[in-house]
Amino acid sequence: MSKKVLVLIEIKDGKLRNVSFETLTVAQQVAQGGEVSAAIFGSGASSLVEEVNKYGPHKVYVIEDETLTVYTTDGYTQALCQLIEEIQADIVIMGHTSIGKDLAPRVAARFDAGLVSDCTAVSVEEGEVVFTRPIYSGKAFEKKVFNQGKVFATLRANNFETTEKDVQSEIISYHPVIKDLRTVIKDIVRKTAGGVDLSEAKVIVSGGRGVKSKEGFKPLQELADVLGGAVGASRGACDSEYCDYSLQIGQTGKVVTPDLYIACGISGAIQHLAGMSNSKIIVAINKDPDAPIFQVADYGIVGDLFEVVPLLSEEFKKVLV
Ligand code: FAD
Repeated sequence: MSKKVLVLIEIKDGKLRNVSFETLTVAQQVAQGGEVSAAIFGSGASSLVEEVNKYGPHKVYVIEDETLTVYTTDGYTQALCQLIEEIQADIVIMGHTSIGKDLAPRVAARFDAGLVSDCTAVSVEEGEVVFTRPIYSGKAFEKKVFNQGKVFATLRANNFETTEKDVQSEIISYHPVIKDLRTVIKDIVRKTAGGVDLSEAKVIVSGGRGVKSKEGFKPLQELADVLGGAVGASRGACDSEYCDYSLQIGQTGKVVTPDLYIACGISGAIQHLAGMSNSKIIVAINKDPDAPIFQVADYGIVGDLFEVVPLLSEEFKKVLV
C-alpha cells in the first residue's frame, strides 16, 4: 500500500548532510508509489532546496524560521509535529545523527507512535516495510514491522545507496507556529574545527593505545588526509589522553560504517568492535599477531604502526595526490 513519507533534511555547517540523501532514497522505496516530502528548517534553507530536489521528493517544505536555524529540541519538535499533522505523514524518517537521536523519540511519543532507531537496512516485503537494526552491540539484527499507526525511523549513515532522480519537486513555504521556546542558543563553541565528519566519513584511520602519545596520532592524521578521511580512536587512546573523547569509536562512543576502517594499535576489544565492525573493509595494523582485531579484519598487517602507517601514506600519495 502506498505511504506518505516525510524526511527531515539536516544541514551541518551550511551544507546538507549526506545521510539526508540516503534517507530520501530510502523514502522513495518505502513510499511504494506514495508521496515523498522533505522538510528543511532554518534561515537560508531555501538556498539548499535545489540540492534536495536532485533526490526526487515530490514536495519540499521550506521552514525558513530564524528560531530553527540552530537545532533546539522544543523548536524542531513543534515545527515537525505541525508538519506531520499538515501532510498526514504515515512514515517519518531522519538520520541517526545527534539531532535524529534526540528528535525522533520525542516526536514519535507525541503521536503515540512506534520508533525504530539506528536502522542499517530497510526493505519492502509483500507490501510491508521492514526495518532492520543491530542489537546487542551489533551481534544480532532484529527486523521490525509496524502494522498500525505512524512509524518513525532513524537511519545509520553510510548504509544506504543514494540515487538521484530527475523530478521537479514542488517547493512549499511552510510557517508553523513556534512559541514558548524554553531553549535559546546564544553561542556555539566547537570542540573540533573543520575536517571530515567522523560519523559520515568514507575512510577512518583510527588509533589505539598503541599510538602511545598525542604526537603518535600525527602519522594517522597524515594518512587520513591523503585518503580524504577522518581520524578516530579507541577508548584506550582517549583514556590515555592521546586524543579527545569526541573521536572515540565503540559501544560508548560513535558507531561508524565507513568504506575503509584502518585500525592502528587497537587490540580489538568487544566494546570497540561494537562501533566499527560493520565497516565495509577493515584493515588492522598491530604488532601482536594474536590481537583480536585480526579476527574481524579483512586485511591484517603485523608490524609496528610507526613504520607501516608512513609507508602507506607514501604509497597512497603516489597514486592519489
Ligand atoms: P589496548 O587494549 O591496550 O591495545 C593496544 C594495542 O596496540 C595492542 O593490541 C598492542 O599489541 C598494540 N600496539 C602497541 N604498540 C604498537 C605499535 N607500535 N604498532 C602496532 N601495534 C601496537 N573501548 C572502545 O574503544 N570504545 C568504546 O566505546 C568502549 N566502551 C567501553 C564500555 C565499557 C562499559 C567498558 C567496560 C569498556 C569500554 N571500552 C571501549 C574499552 C575496551 O574494553 C578496551 O579497553 C579498549 O578498547 C582498549 O583500547 P586499545 O585497543 O586502544 O588498547
